[in-house]
Amino acid sequence: MGGGPAGSTAAGLLAKAGVNVLVVESSRFPRFHIGESLLPSSLPILEKLGVGFDGREMHYKGGAEFFDERTGDYALYPFAEALPGPRRDHALQVERAAFDERLLRVAEKLGAEVHEEERANDVEVDDDGVTVKTNKGRYRARYCVDATGQDALLAKRGRTVTAYRDFGRAAAFTHFEDLGDDGVDALGKDGNIKVLMLPDGWGWLIPLTNRRLSVGLVARERSISAEALQELIDSSPLTRRVVAGARRLGTQLVGNFSYRNTAPSGPRHFCVGDSACFLDPVFSSGVALAMEGADAMSQKLVTALENGTEGRPELMEPVSSHLGRAYSSVGALVYAFYHTQMIRNLFFASKPNREIRAGLISVLGGDIWREDNAFQKMLTRSRRRNIES
Ligand SMILES: Cc1cc2nc3c(=O)[nH]c(=O)nc-3n(C[C@H](O)[C@H](O)[C@H](O)COP(=O)(O)OP(=O)(O)OC[C@H]3O[C@@H](n4cnc5c(N)ncnc54)[C@H](O)[C@@H]3O)c2cc1C
Repeated sequence: MGGGPAGSTAAGLLAKAGVNVLVVESSRFPRFHIGESLLPSSLPILEKLGVGFDGREMHYKGGAEFFDERTGDYALYPFAEALPGPRRDHALQVERAAFDERLLRVAEKLGAEVHEEERANDVEVDDDGVTVKTNKGRYRARYCVDATGQDALLAKRGRTVTAYRDFGRAAAFTHFEDLGDDGVDALGKDGNIKVLMLPDGWGWLIPLTNRRLSVGLVARERSISAEALQELIDSSPLTRRVVAGARRLGTQLVGNFSYRNTAPSGPRHFCVGDSACFLDPVFSSGVALAMEGADAMSQKLVTALENGTEGRPELMEPVSSHLGRAYSSVGALVYAFYHTQMIRNLFFASKPNREIRAGLISVLGGDIWREDNAFQKMLTRSRRRNIES
């Protein structure tokens, strides 16, 4: 259920392994979606799916830059300076309409049956299988994957959504077209996301192909206004310079995000991507974790379907704990971003410890499952202390 990055990655990988897959997706693709800045950790999964992009389609992303224009603090984190190991030194900035459509078509090519404009309304699990009811029909299957994004069909039905009230919870964003030469120069050649630190939130500038730019604002309140985004644009010298003379498109608002689903798996079903957890997007982790979750879940499910063990209620527990490690590391970083001096002391440190800096970049790049990251260990220990106190 759902054909975004989580659903189409799962469908593609399962179909590739010979599983009979049906995707029901409520929209017709291409459809707009926010969430344009990817992480290097998604590249190997794209390769597994056989998806390649050339530079005209998707923008190169070398890393992330953090600015505080009030104090002049600035930090650059190139993915190439992460801890050594088998990792990628860049990621992509993507227009999600085109990116998501490509993934869905790839899943179809790999053998998944895709029904667009069909909404899943209900799921019933019994001993022998699952029945999914949609607005167009009923389907019987051996297993059901909830990849319905923030609609979080099963979590909402089961009332298992818990909000992270201290994280960003609402966003306003817009796009600019036809950036001028000076704007393109100000963005730099490396295609980095630029994160602007603000008193109770943060802003983003994401360069896209064809001289387009995504600009957004995230706030810790439940709702946000278009005026707040305008204020960011007017008050940020960098943003004003980048968008000078460019054409602005409409503003969109989204609210009520940052939550986790406390029951992401159970008999014959698994919730993946935003239907399992949505963290404040300051570190651009959403698509990467959606795809990683889909990959880990698919590997487990293929073996279970072969062995006839897919009905075991505890089947996906190892996958949940694999993903739990990522959610707690990125969640700890988001927590530190809003609640501690870590950003000042570490992000903007003039002489950072090299190993700690490389470890931070590894986490920023989505390389979260290695055992040798001293920064990540420190981060998750301090998060535990915060929870306990
Ligand atoms: C303001 C903001 C900024 C963000 N920035 C970034 C970023 O820079 N980088 C990043 O990686 N992530 C970012 N994200 C997060 C990212 O958008 C999500 O994590 C990502 O889209 C999750 O993928 P998904 O497949 O789980 O869900 P989605 O991409 O939302 O896909 C879910 C799909 O399910 C379909 N659907 C919903 N309900 C049903 C139903 N009942 N039946 C059938 N189909 C259904 C929907 O139409 C949709 O196509 C951002 C999010 C927000 C809100």
